Amino acid sequence: MTDALAPYRRLTIKIGSALLVDGKKGQLRAEWLAALAEDIAALKARGVSIVIVSSGAIALGRQLLHLDAKTLPLDQSQAAASAGQIALSQAWAAALAAHGIVTGQILLTPNITEERRYFLNARTTISTLLGLGAIPIINENDSVATTEIRYGDNDRLSARVATMIEADCLVLLSDIDGLYTAPPAKDPNAAHLAHVAEITPEIDAMAGGAASHLSRGGMTTKVEAGKIATKAGTAMIIAKGTEMHPLKALTEGARHTLFAPAESRAQARKRWIMGTLELSGAVHIDAGAAKALLDGRSLLPIGVTRITGEFNRGDAIAILSPDGREVARGLAGLGREEADLVKGKKSEVVTQLLGIGTRSEMVHRDNLVILMGLEARV
Ligand code: GLU
Repeated sequence: MTDALAPYRRLTIKIGSALLVDGKKGQLRAEWLAALAEDIAALKARGVSIVIVSSGAIALGRQLLHLDAKTLPLDQSQAAASAGQIALSQAWAAALAAHGIVTGQILLTPNITEERRYFLNARTTISTLLGLGAIPIINENDSVATTEIRYGDNDRLSARVATMIEADCLVLLSDIDGLYTAPPAKDPNAAHLAHVAEITPEIDAMAGGAASHLSRGGMTTKVEAGKIATKAGTAMIIAKGTEMHPLKALTEGARHTLFAPAESRAQARKRWIMGTLELSGAVHIDAGAAKALLDGRSLLPIGVTRITGEFNRGDAIAILSPDGREVARGLAGLGREEADLVKGKKSEVVTQLLGIGTRSEMVHRDNLVILMGLEARV
């Protein structure tokens, strides 16, 4: 029994309309949601930060406004989204309040996720909510989005949210337990894929299939979501959500498809540095150096004020701000003796002391991971 969610500390979970809303009656599946809320509370209790992307506004709103047509015209589906979103956020607030969890609602459109100024603001709001122990519940702002500026499906929206908050995994709860080599309903030879290392044209071809009637996305938008997520270093899981306790099921080995995150060599090295438990020493730095690090620059000897511990070049060391907090971690570019010799000195002097041709950074930026706030992930 493998816990599929064990490696992750920050999850984005996308819930489709077909799971939350009964297709025939158009009513909320309240018991299912209550069970899911239990799973979410259990994950939160083990220290996982969770952001929910929930569909269901249009499906709920149709029923509230008695809109029966199979396909609604745009104005009516926007009205349905408007009425349904209230019901949807109330349902989430109540379900999570049962576990003492506060929810915050955020409605997004692509201009928000794609424009840096809005993006940063939305990201800050989400991470502040998380910091306060709340769970953000996100949907597209369907009632005002125009066709040109809408995602239209929550699969891709959830992938943008996951990358925006640097989640380490995006979980798409769907009506199917993952990706198959062909649509399993039509092809008896369709085989389930447990692991997708890379989204190749073959994978794209496997995804080409129909969507279920309430949600906009089918496998195609899920694989598109996978591209957005994995490129940014976020893993993606497609799992079946129709049964009760779908997240618990994932922690107990339920079948799913995992899309592995693409990782550059630099990311892999930084991840390794982050995971290093044994630090050989520490350097204290001044405020100017702290700012340079946040700007993405290397740590130079001139910014080093004090050194502790014994380390050689290549050993992992902590980098401490003037107030003593660990602000970064990195691989030492100089051993302890050299570092003592050049600390606080200008680069020209450093080269004189160490010899021309020697690398003179205390920690090169490629070997450095900033530990503050959202920047902690690499
Ligand atoms: N945002 C839509 C809603 O809440 C759903 C989009 C989707 O199903 O992907 O109704």
